[in-house]
Amino acid sequence: MPGEASVPGATPVTASGGSPATAPVTVLGLGMMGSALAAALLGAGHHVTVWNRSPAKAGPLAARGAVPAATPADAVAASPLLVVCLLADDAVREVLDGLGDAVAGKTVVNLTNGTPAQARELSAVTAERGGRYLDGGIMAVPQMIAGPDAYVLYSGDEGAYATHRATLAAFGGTRWTGTDPGRAALYDLALLTGMYGMLLGVLQAFALVRTEGIQAEEFSDLLVPWVGAMLADVPVMGRAVDTGRHRTDVSSLAVNQAAFPNFTATFRDQGVSPELFEPFQALLDRAIDEGHAADGLSRLTDLLGPRN
Ligand code: NAP
Repeated sequence: MPGEASVPGATPVTASGGSPATAPVTVLGLGMMGSALAAALLGAGHHVTVWNRSPAKAGPLAARGAVPAATPADAVAASPLLVVCLLADDAVREVLDGLGDAVAGKTVVNLTNGTPAQARELSAVTAERGGRYLDGGIMAVPQMIAGPDAYVLYSGDEGAYATHRATLAAFGGTRWTGTDPGRAALYDLALLTGMYGMLLGVLQAFALVRTEGIQAEEFSDLLVPWVGAMLADVPVMGRAVDTGRHRTDVSSLAVNQAAFPNFTATFRDQGVSPELFEPFQALLDRAIDEGHAADGLSRLTDLLGPRN
């Protein structure tokens, strides 16, 4: 099983006794992810109360021993720990605003994808209502929950995290990112940014090869090891970003810029949209215009935004 850990730069949380495996937990939201979270809590032996806007989704969990609640208020009254996993922040606000001070004395663990600003706002609102708030970023798909590769990033109320960490470990590894409630969302979105960048490239590659009748699945045999080999260079690029030393003897921006028209020309010739790649070309051109031709791709981070 994945363990408890802090991400780099976060203060480790002092160990506590944690919640007993039978501790009651309420799960609000039984979509694909909320259902997986509730199932993991049931699997760990907890007394689980569930609520979902569309009540039918509680059926499979009730068959496994969960207690369906008719309203969010009933669900919240059943447990000191509330796990919220809804589609987006507006749904979370709607449900929590409807609960009002019913969260007093409770811990709200919001695992809905959101922004750092939304997490800070929810933390403040929950505190005003007398509750404790933890924000979380789930680094897994539902099928991975409770498995060896799943983990959740947490930030916010450190005491609440120490109290409930053992219960939250039912989902997978627990990673503390700090007391700023927005920090877990920042890590979550940054990790997903890396994922989307990689996957968009994969989809563009599929679009290209299939114009010649090549099967995307077959092409994956070449693509996966290639992308994996390139990912091995990420820490080296990270060091360049941290130190500001971007000079490279591997692959300069000038070399990349010279090759780039080949991509857009081939996309055009093969009838594939270049819309994903055109912003990359513009960024490369700007870097060269600003005098960074001899630097590596890591220089592009400086063009994208400031350091703090
Ligand atoms: P989902 O299957 O579409 O479920 C969405 C849930 O939100 C349902 O329970 C839905 O209720 C509820 N909901 C939507 N609007 C609502 C509202 N206004 N009031 C009350 N409930 C509302 O989505 P999911 O996959 O479970 O994702 C849930 C969260 O987990 C999202 O923030 C997602 O980004 C995050 N997440 C998902 C994955 C994944 O792979 N699925 C991975 C990591 C993180 P109804 O059933 O009544 O529609």
